[in-house]
Amino acid sequence: MAQTLRLPIHLSSSPNRSLSKPSFSKTLHPRSPFSAPRRPISALSSDLGSPSPILVSDNGKGAIFHSSAASSAESSAIEVDAVTEAELKENGFRSTRRTKLVCTIGPATCEFEQLEALAVGGMNVARINMCHGTREWHRHVIGLVRRLNVEKGFAVAVMMDTEGSEIHMGDLGGAASAKAEDGEIWTFSVRAFDSPLPDNTISVNYDGFAEDVKVGDELLVDGGMVRFDVIEKIGPDVKCRCTDPGLLLPRANLTFWRDGSLVRERNAMLPTISSKDWLDIDFGIAEGVDFIAISFVKSAEVINHLKSYIAARSRDSDVALIAKIESIDSLKNLEEIIRASDGAMVARGDLGAQIPLEQVPSAQQRIVQVCRQLNKPVIVASQLLESMIEYPTPTRAEVADVSEAVRQRADALMLSGESAMGQYPDKALAVLRSVSLRIERWWREEKRHEAMELPDIASSFSDSISEEICNSAAKMANNLEVDALFVYTKTGHMASLLSRCRPDCPIFAFTATTSVRRRLNLQWGLIPFRLGFSDDMESNLHRTFALLKARGMIKSGDLVIAVSDMLQSIQVMNVP
Ligand code: PGA
Ligand code: MN
Repeated sequence: MAQTLRLPIHLSSSPNRSLSKPSFSKTLHPRSPFSAPRRPISALSSDLGSPSPILVSDNGKGAIFHSSAASSAESSAIEVDAVTEAELKENGFRSTRRTKLVCTIGPATCEFEQLEALAVGGMNVARINMCHGTREWHRHVIGLVRRLNVEKGFAVAVMMDTEGSEIHMGDLGGAASAKAEDGEIWTFSVRAFDSPLPDNTISVNYDGFAEDVKVGDELLVDGGMVRFDVIEKIGPDVKCRCTDPGLLLPRANLTFWRDGSLVRERNAMLPTISSKDWLDIDFGIAEGVDFIAISFVKSAEVINHLKSYIAARSRDSDVALIAKIESIDSLKNLEEIIRASDGAMVARGDLGAQIPLEQVPSAQQRIVQVCRQLNKPVIVASQLLESMIEYPTPTRAEVADVSEAVRQRADALMLSGESAMGQYPDKALAVLRSVSLRIERWWREEKRHEAMELPDIASSFSDSISEEICNSAAKMANNLEVDALFVYTKTGHMASLLSRCRPDCPIFAFTATTSVRRRLNLQWGLIPFRLGFSDDMESNLHRTFALLKARGMIKSGDLVIAVSDMLQSIQVMNVP
């Protein structure tokens, strides 16, 4: 039977509202009364830790901001963090950052004040890496992020990253690192040691290691950061001579190569999800983390299996699964893996240990494109600002690499060691932020509208309508040069469809649920607000305008396009 379809396109018609585009470039963003003189970026990290935080906004101007808790009762009906609020007030819609930032939390950033500094500095997602730290420590960090969200109005999501079962070194008996010198003989052993470890000894997590390697193999730590030749095997011990000296870090990944090829013997049969991973996943579900990243995903089957496991265990089953693309198998099965997952990570660290380094850039571009086409958020990860673990400024090459990921319009960039144990976590984050903003602005200035061919992905007729609405709304937003897209969404789906179009203007995503709000924080261009709303779009819009105006986040005359997933419509209007 044919389905009748109502698709009202509301165009505001009241006589005193002008739909003509206001000359916003001149008048829209007046200098706020909070404006302070330009301050150098180097002032950033010290300011962030001060008791009354100074936000260095993205054009270099400073603004003192207040927590949203200080606002009036009515305007607190809408939840947005103080940083976004200050940014909108100060710089206007167009200047908000579209690329999201993920920070790995570690010893350098696990105190409340440190986490707050990261949130103020633009962290959208906090990542905890199950390779390191105890259960108690992870629980503690998750608790602090929660507190930060509740007390300061942030929507920082938590991503738990599983260890995976590939071969890696042990934890160096508590040492932060060990130096392997040229020609030194080291023992890699599968024996269980009591710490401290004997000199020049490394424990290996994979029992089959000593049987799988052969004398003459080359052993690579972290894809070649340090190299050894295997010279002798004595039972569980494998003696190796260092040929490329370097720093050994706890839990570093190990691969071994024979005649120039990666050896994949029985270790290729290791389960993607180890028994420890299963326990960690149970922990993540119990703690209600927003994302679980799965290491060394080889096929879609693993993700599907895990999805049903999670659905059976968690009441609202809204934990999203991120597939880490870091092996040859994952590249082979890329499309089906991404289709099954809720997002992906370009895990360049391990990927670069499994494929030749010069193939990593094209793999990155392909993964980013496939994710965009299939509407899954994608994170570009590892070594973005590696030198900032030790130095306060990045290399020019690192800045170029970050720019490339932004230019590819990845949803998010990730810091690993830089924020977990580096000396300059806040500065590294500030670099990601300022480079993202600058490259995004450059693209807008050059008016490079995104022309990527987006395939239809809807699985039902109703989904097709949503998809068409979002594609059209994004196109209209670009053509009409509107100030913002508004989306009212229960599940976040419509918001992600808009984000997929990578429109020129920011997308204000209103959702009633805090967990959906946090999850949307990983996606390109979305500014997630928590707001209770009804099925009546007219009243939703007027209420939103009133609330945002009261907080100084929008002004009369701003041009907005609104869509929602309750009423399938596109509305174009000036803020009254
Ligand atoms: P890891 O994953 O940091 O958990 O190893 C990221 C990567 O391999 O790049
Ligand atoms: Mn990895």
